[in-house]
Amino acid sequence: MRLSNTITTITGGGSDGWDLFIKARKMISEGHDITELTIGEHDIKTDTRILEAMHTAALGGATGYAMVPGIDDLRNAVATRLAARTGVPTTLDNVLITAGGQAALFAAFRAALDEGDTALYINPYYATYPGTIRSVGGVPKAVTAEADNGFLPTFEALDAAAAGAKALLINSPNNPTGAVYGRDTLEAIAAVAIKHDLIVISDEVYDTQVWEGEHISIRSLEGMNERTFVVGSMSKSHAMTGSRVGWLVGPDEAMSHVLNLLTNTNYGVAGFTQRAALFALGLGEAFEDEIGAPFQRRRALAQKALEGQNAIRLSQPSGAMYLMLDIRATGLSGDDFADKLLMERHIAVMPGESFGDAAAGHVRIAMTIPDAPFEAAIKEIAAFAANLA
Ligand code: PMP
Repeated sequence: MRLSNTITTITGGGSDGWDLFIKARKMISEGHDITELTIGEHDIKTDTRILEAMHTAALGGATGYAMVPGIDDLRNAVATRLAARTGVPTTLDNVLITAGGQAALFAAFRAALDEGDTALYINPYYATYPGTIRSVGGVPKAVTAEADNGFLPTFEALDAAAAGAKALLINSPNNPTGAVYGRDTLEAIAAVAIKHDLIVISDEVYDTQVWEGEHISIRSLEGMNERTFVVGSMSKSHAMTGSRVGWLVGPDEAMSHVLNLLTNTNYGVAGFTQRAALFALGLGEAFEDEIGAPFQRRRALAQKALEGQNAIRLSQPSGAMYLMLDIRATGLSGDDFADKLLMERHIAVMPGESFGDAAAGHVRIAMTIPDAPFEAAIKEIAAFAANLA
């Protein structure tokens, strides 16, 4: 089969960074007892009430083709939510429902890039970013956010990379670093975007999980609404990863074009999952806080467990479900540390290098196991690092 270059080069040819995860899963299948701190998925399942709403909707007939832009009630609910959070007037014409945030990312890049156009993204990065850019024929270009600057991108680094680029992808609260971009950082990003006429794609799927500071959407900054796409999702905020409900928000003229893409690709998202998402949003902020609470609690447990030692430095985890541990004092790379930790202590963590070289010498911890084993694992990792250092 004579396949396209675009599809055969999506991964960029490198390792996808999941070697350690695969090794850990293999050890589990062979009967080893492994503590997994690898995957960014809640340790609880979707709430029964949401599943009941899904069931009721399906029995009630929401099983045919749903409206391609998404059902109006859900688009309105998302618009109201974003308007309330950002102060930017938003209507259903600014909102398209997609199969999770991932499909919204794809749609945003398809809208922003032509073949060969450059898109900037911040290193360290969530695994699918460069592949999503390549999957629309774009050229991904990483901009380093230094560990020693709290993994925050700077005006200088962005400005130096931006000449000729068409788009810039940001993600706050951030996976994998837990960084939350404050107003200063967002203003620097906005200044670069305006100077170089970039479309900004703002991945805000962790917007309800902020443990320090506040979530600010770059869309609310002056001059940004007309050049920003916001990616959102029910996956993280409502523990609905498998339901595949997300959205893309942007200027209405842009959305009318993106709608043509959705018509010619997914042809809509299942009506019963959209109804379930609508019900879930109706549970309000108290429910979102409940979903986020375990991560906030475990973050505090980890901070306490890492007090009074200096083999591991915890980079400020301000949001999301992850911690980045700086293990450079052990003299090992993130890859070697993670491998040794897996083999010797049966704890699986993600090497920082799998999220880009800016996270070298770090490991990412997903706070996605119950509190007691989580705390024990952090203490074990600290003792392991102290031994090496
Ligand atoms: N963006 C980020 C930063 C993520 O971590 C994830 C999922 N891990 C996604 C987007 C995609 O999530 P979904 O498609 O489930 O909404």
